[in-house]
Amino acid sequence: MTFLPAEIIKKKRMALELSEPEIKFFIDGYTSGQIPDYQMSALLMAIFFQGMSSSETFALTKCMLNSGVVVKFPSHSLRVDKHSTGGVGDKTSLILGPIVAAAGVPVPMISGRGLGHTGGTLDKLESIPGFNVRLSLTDFIKHVEESKICFIGQTQEICPADKKIYALRDVTATVESLPLICASIMSKKLAEGIDGLVLDVKFGSGAFMKDPKKSEELALALKKIAESYGKKCVALLTNMNQPLGRYSGNSLEVYECLEIMKGSSFVGPDGYDLYADTRELSLWLSAHMITLGGRASNAEEGYQIAKQVLASGKALEMFYKLCEIHGGNVHALPMPKQFKEVKSSSEGYLSDLETEKIGIAGILLRAGRMTTADQIHPTSGIEFHKKIGDSVLAGEKIFTIWGDEPELFSKADEILKSSFKISLQKGPAQDLILKTLL
Ligand code: URA
Repeated sequence: MTFLPAEIIKKKRMALELSEPEIKFFIDGYTSGQIPDYQMSALLMAIFFQGMSSSETFALTKCMLNSGVVVKFPSHSLRVDKHSTGGVGDKTSLILGPIVAAAGVPVPMISGRGLGHTGGTLDKLESIPGFNVRLSLTDFIKHVEESKICFIGQTQEICPADKKIYALRDVTATVESLPLICASIMSKKLAEGIDGLVLDVKFGSGAFMKDPKKSEELALALKKIAESYGKKCVALLTNMNQPLGRYSGNSLEVYECLEIMKGSSFVGPDGYDLYADTRELSLWLSAHMITLGGRASNAEEGYQIAKQVLASGKALEMFYKLCEIHGGNVHALPMPKQFKEVKSSSEGYLSDLETEKIGIAGILLRAGRMTTADQIHPTSGIEFHKKIGDSVLAGEKIFTIWGDEPELFSKADEILKSSFKISLQKGPAQDLILKTLL
């Protein structure tokens, strides 16, 4: 069926419901290059403001999924993946993928790049010299069958619609939309040929959905789509009121993951391990994946398996295997050489962080993109010395800006200085996992 793109944009602008043929016409036209970026940008903005009904969201997911193929694996094991709705310093995929694969559950992962102020798994992996995420579908299937793990991005074969739309949303301020997030995540995940999916749905100042109620709404919508396709799905609502772990930035995050997989801790100025939250969340997400993969009868048992796999060094071995599969030399991981400290001018407790601003500081450092053509600077990033509730002395470090282009530091410094609050009160305790929707 043929339509006028401008009429479809107008209909959505007027908050009218689009039909499946109209959505299909737009998605197919954009994927094939017949509909230009400017018309897709206008439609995305109209969806952003007017939202979509649940049948429109289902139709959008279906059309994006059908823009490419659905992976079919020859063997019969239960395959499981995880997807996060996006955060700052959220690097758990690099730890949980190897844990779950080493526990015997195949993990076929189609990931994204940085989106808005949040980081992306593909950009993190590409900071490893030689690491190739652009493998063919045949190689993807072969590696998941043989080694139980492989990470790729959307391609011309798998989810080409999300590949284009994701990059466009990143630079047109159209990310924080429930239907667009649902269709983007689920089209990728349904294309992977998985049986189960664990969702890490973030809430808080660094999440796209800041309010926990909104993130629960997103979790339920994602779960409904997954289950309507016959996939088992568990969603965890997790805290993004502060960055996860010690670092954000591509090679710095890979370094943190390696340290955790090597069994290291990093005790910060307040006497606790700054890797603890990254490790704990990775273990719980792994626990649910191992359970959906049939290797544990419940998440508590899955957690013990995950913990043991991590402690035994098998996850690290699997990560090295993953690098070998993708041609990456992790021993040559570049690390930044220049730094600038961001200090507190007052004394008290760290009571609040505007985590989205921290993500934006990362973009200003070129750890993320401002335009689709931007090249990532792999060593740029931010180190976090404090978590909410920690005591702070006047003159004490809150952040360290890292990178190899010190000329970029002053803009990031300015925004980071405005991203934290020091108060005489401690601020609310931050639960890492708020809720698990089974
Ligand atoms: N992750 C995705 O893959 N897509 C989104 O829209 C948000 C997070």
